[in-house]
Amino acid sequence: MGITEADLRWWLSGYDVSQVMIGAVASHSALQILHGAKLEGFRTLAIAVGADKRRLYSAFPGAEPDEWLMLDDYKDLMTQVEWLRKKQVIIIPHGSLVEYLGADNYSKLELPTFGNREILRWESSREKQRQWLENSGCKTPKVINDPRDIDSPVIVKYAGAKGGRGYFIARDYRDFRRNVNLDEEFTIQEYVLGCRYYLHFFFDPLAEDGYQVHGIKSNAGKVLGRLELMSMDRRDESNVDEFYKLGSLRDLREMALEPSFVVTGNMPVVLRESLLPEAFRMAEGVVSTSFELEENSRGMIGAFCLETIVTDKLEFRVFEISARIVAGSNPFVSGSSYSDINEKGMSTGRRISRCIKKAIETGNLNRILS
Ligand code: ATP
Repeated sequence: MGITEADLRWWLSGYDVSQVMIGAVASHSALQILHGAKLEGFRTLAIAVGADKRRLYSAFPGAEPDEWLMLDDYKDLMTQVEWLRKKQVIIIPHGSLVEYLGADNYSKLELPTFGNREILRWESSREKQRQWLENSGCKTPKVINDPRDIDSPVIVKYAGAKGGRGYFIARDYRDFRRNVNLDEEFTIQEYVLGCRYYLHFFFDPLAEDGYQVHGIKSNAGKVLGRLELMSMDRRDESNVDEFYKLGSLRDLREMALEPSFVVTGNMPVVLRESLLPEAFRMAEGVVSTSFELEENSRGMIGAFCLETIVTDKLEFRVFEISARIVAGSNPFVSGSSYSDINEKGMSTGRRISRCIKKAIETGNLNRILS
């Protein structure tokens, strides 16, 4: 069984909240998280395997943690929980933590963790994600169930592949047969042509002003909290982003080259302002629906990202949702064109620590952790 609200209350009852430490695995978005935590006045702790990481962080004194927990294997974190609780640590989860521990271990990690871990189950299943997004009023790319029905470009995605590794584009059934690895579980999606924008939002269930989100169904009409747009990025993907330099698709096939989608970096983006209402409508739908994913769901808490493609008809297609801080928020350590409007220098990492700080001040820590 996973962590319950009673577990969380029990751990927090042993915490001296004036001594809370913000902890993160030193990878992914940890520089931003630790830097933001320091700015909000927290002590910090980083978790790593291998001395190289520690050396690397010494290159960034603004994010260097007050303490390190060095492990032989990330899975050993499961045995360090009591020590970490004695240190009053709150863990900020990111993609690498979940990947290194495995989803199952992560759901059982006996440490106060920022956000709602329940949502991981929805996020890690493509089918559940699609259901969630569609119930939220987001348009998703069409799914092709039978490869023989491929009659326009599709993207084939393997389950559990990270950062687009191994994905390929097929133009027809022959293409698909030539490239597919039938030993792996895969999904075939319509290839949506357009610009890829990753929208980084933050949902604060404790804030009572700003863009308020209202509940639906079981929470009909109830004010659930405040939605904020933090920043936006697009990704550099190797080699698809540089493919055009080698000629036409036909030339490339003659060279036996296929595009790949391995993320290598991120770049800041702003959206044309006329698309912002739709971006907020989608994000609001995702938050409202998150409270209906399961009976008594605690819903979305904190950072989430809608991964979208905007077509030349100015329509969004949402191909994925991440319910935690994403690495695409890293270009915005000192704020973004959106977050700066409200407060200069507010990164998503810092926003998380601000949320924790406010929750400590108002005695609501249990409402934003799991
Ligand atoms: P991560 O978990 O790191 O976000 P992932 O392995 O789940 O990555 P996706 O984000 O689903 O992979 O997709 C990787 C890349 O493939 C996207 O950034 C985008 O360039 C491309 N892509 C995904 N789905 C589509 C689609 N339906 N049409 C066109 N391109 C797509």
